Amino acid sequence: MSSLGFALTIPARHGRAFEVSAGSTLTIIDVEGEQVADMSALVRADFTEFLSPRHTRLALGRLTLRVGDELQTNRRRPHLRLLDDSVGVHDILLGCCDRYRYELDFHVQGHRNCMDNLTEALAPYGVEPWRVPENINIFMNTIIEPDGRVHVERPVSRAGDHVTFECLIDSVIAISACPQDLNPCNGFRPTDLHVRVAPRA
Ligand SMILES: [Zn+2]
Repeated sequence: MSSLGFALTIPARHGRAFEVSAGSTLTIIDVEGEQVADMSALVRADFTEFLSPRHTRLALGRLTLRVGDELQTNRRRPHLRLLDDSVGVHDILLGCCDRYRYELDFHVQGHRNCMDNLTEALAPYGVEPWRVPENINIFMNTIIEPDGRVHVERPVSRAGDHVTFECLIDSVIAISACPQDLNPCNGFRPTDLHVRVAPRA
């Protein structure tokens, strides 16, 4: 897919991957509200370098994102810069749901999940399942209590809310519209996401 500029819909409960060139902007839109976008990003020229939440947390010195933040790769290079954010509540801590979470914690077999969505989306790029990098969770409302406990509440994002990143390195981006409908993560109602990629003006 061309990285000159395009838009796509990520259907509810599914994932997509696409290329974004350095200098382009990546906008993720919560179409109906309360929908989390699980996002992994890999450096296009070398998939052993990728967006790393743990390196990013150390670089930022906090567990939350603010406009102007530079998210880092596992080689501590700036990868994505947060340019615009109509929500201000995202998660860079908890990773994504997977089949084992649904089996062990919810006693459901075969539930769609973000790990499989990201894995399937990245397979055409030759990314093996065990190499799918840890993700961040756009629009996810993780509450961090003063005593260190964490829990996930309904997103505060509403229809049309968005975030925009500038991509600083040519990348392959994978996004899952989180299928979690058994806890408040997506307001119990998974819905579509919309993505726009544009050359930065
Ligand atoms: Zn999920």
